[in-house]
Amino acid sequence: MDPVEALERIAFLLERQGAVTYRVQAFRTAATVIAAMSPDEVRRRTLDGSLGRVRGLGPKTTLVVEEALAGVRPAYLAHLAEEAGGPLVEGERGQRLRRALRGDCHLHSDWSDGGSPVEAMARAARDLGHAWCVLTDHSPRLTVARGLTAERLRRQLALVAEVNRTLAPFRLLTGIECDILDDGTLDQEPELLDELDVVVASVHSKLRMDRAPMTRRLLAAVRNPLVDVLGHCTGRQITGKLRPESQFDAAEVFAACAEHGTAVEINCRPDRFDPPRRLLRRALEAGTLFAIDSDAHAPGQLDWQIYGCARAEECGVPAGRIVNTWTERQVATWTRTGRTPRRAFGPS
Ligand SMILES: [Zn+2]
Ligand SMILES: [Zn+2]
Repeated sequence: MDPVEALERIAFLLERQGAVTYRVQAFRTAATVIAAMSPDEVRRRTLDGSLGRVRGLGPKTTLVVEEALAGVRPAYLAHLAEEAGGPLVEGERGQRLRRALRGDCHLHSDWSDGGSPVEAMARAARDLGHAWCVLTDHSPRLTVARGLTAERLRRQLALVAEVNRTLAPFRLLTGIECDILDDGTLDQEPELLDELDVVVASVHSKLRMDRAPMTRRLLAAVRNPLVDVLGHCTGRQITGKLRPESQFDAAEVFAACAEHGTAVEINCRPDRFDPPRRLLRRALEAGTLFAIDSDAHAPGQLDWQIYGCARAEECGVPAGRIVNTWTERQVATWTRTGRTPRRAFGPS
């Protein structure tokens, strides 16, 4: 087994399991260090016992490399695969929809508050079977998450083009998770938003605003022609530091989403599961599109889409109305012109 692959697989499984960053970082760092060394040097250092002294490697990661080079499956990986490698949801729940997904509209890299480089995220999405995904790092006002200024976002677009040359035919679409400001305007230059393939708009501040102004705020965002997806609409946190749902007129907001072709996100993070099923059903009745998004901040979290698929299936969301089941070209047409594939609202 390739030692880099072994280290990356361990990191992936830990992230998928929801491990905190510091538990994963050692394996990600070690993978980067080993990948940068020549195979000869890795072998020589393994033989003379000096591998553990290389900066970025520790006893645990060194052992993984030694075992991989010796041709055995590293014990730590075997144990982890046994403990955390199984399906995330039981039985067939969500599987039919998951098989229909071709992409993911919401994920973060280390340019904002994600833990991995852009290319690592894209490669992991490709390896999960996706044909495309959208890079959506945060916008400037979200300073705690190192939101991208217009200038940094422009630089990121050049990087995305480079990643696309490397990973073709897989496509990394350009995008943003743009803050919806208190008055419903967006936290990025409109000209720049217009250049992006996909704009996810989310509320990250003043989540406890009164119902009427919050409704106006969300309405302004979902009616904005630059917005394609309404991210985690209630903002609730259901594990860790709990946060209640934001209050707004769901009927009015979802009706506006349907009218303006804005997709309602089904956020798959286990700490969010947003919207709750009751609101998901109301969006369905209102006739909206949906986006089942991982909101991944690490490669292993990209696998969380199955949670959203299970919830969508339980609520009877038809596959055609989920934008992730569309081809990259259909997604691009929808975000540029508002036109949806015929099957979106046809019989599914
Ligand atoms: Zn968010
Ligand atoms: Zn996000």
